[in-house]
Amino acid sequence: ATPTAVMVATGVGAKNGVLIKGGDALERAQKVKYVTFDKTGTLTQGKASVTTVKVFTSMDRGEFLTLVASAEASSEHPLAKAVVEYARHFNFFEPSEATNKQNDVNDVRYAGWLLDVADFFAVPGRGVQCSIDGKRVLIGNRKLLTENGLNIPTLVEDVIVELEQSAQTGVLVAYDGVLIGVLGIADPLKREAAIVVEGLVKMGIRPVMVTGDNWRTAQAVAKEVGIHDVRAEVMPAGKAEVIRSFQKDGSIVAMVGDGINDSPALAASDVGMAIGAGTDVAIEAADYVLMRNNLEDVITAIDLSRKTFLRIR
Ligand code: ADP
Ligand code: MG
Repeated sequence: ATPTAVMVATGVGAKNGVLIKGGDALERAQKVKYVTFDKTGTLTQGKASVTTVKVFTSMDRGEFLTLVASAEASSEHPLAKAVVEYARHFNFFEPSEATNKQNDVNDVRYAGWLLDVADFFAVPGRGVQCSIDGKRVLIGNRKLLTENGLNIPTLVEDVIVELEQSAQTGVLVAYDGVLIGVLGIADPLKREAAIVVEGLVKMGIRPVMVTGDNWRTAQAVAKEVGIHDVRAEVMPAGKAEVIRSFQKDGSIVAMVGDGINDSPALAASDVGMAIGAGTDVAIEAADYVLMRNNLEDVITAIDLSRKTFLRIR
């Protein structure tokens, strides 16, 4: 294509909220053979909500939720945001069950309701860890707990399996070496997700899902959206490995993602597409930014490339 054609296409993209970082990226998109989607925040709305709260100790729900929210408040993960939102709502709008802290509900910041947190860090593909009141807090999946020496009783395992079979993520909470509760979090698919997957298949492109989430939840979500090729329990570096495995035979591979954990895969892919609402790290690693956060723009981007480069041949 002429430089002018590339400029025009870049402009058309921008007008539709598809930001393209350069002519090479625009050119590669026409040949895409695989589109690899992250699950959380990409295929799903990333607006997860808490559906289940089970507390296994004498701690009341308000206290439990405050503890969990305090730890998750430093995380950017969609699951973390869901937990904080739910805890805030629970503690301030259901006062009968809430702790008897004096808070002004008119204060939109609800300053001061979270506990002090030290030594916070996010464990990629696992969850978060920190200390509160000098006690260690772990919040995340099975791996996070077992790798820290906790075992998961059958009763708790049963609760998690049930959540996962209904496409939810089970989040485990440990405090001071004790498994004190489980949260069930549902994150609905984006409305257009299934249509986009179907559209890609019709274009001769193979959709794939790659996620750090567990197999059972991943498969339940994949089934809903119509993706047959699923890679679950994949660490951030593993996502990039998946991309490279598809590239081995020379195939052009696109990756669509939103999280810090997707940035290695976005960088490894031939056509990295970041969700505009995603994290800065993902946006930096990508060749395209989908500003409308709408997956239809994955097709828009590929179409734009095909039209730009086929027309002048
Ligand atoms: P995805 O690839 O679907 O975006 P991630 O790699 O970000 O998933 O996370 C994988 C899994 O690790 C999540 O499904 C969840 O079980 C756990 N996890 C990650 N971050 C958190 C968090 N902040 N709070 C609770 N669980 C988390
Ligand atoms: Mg994600």
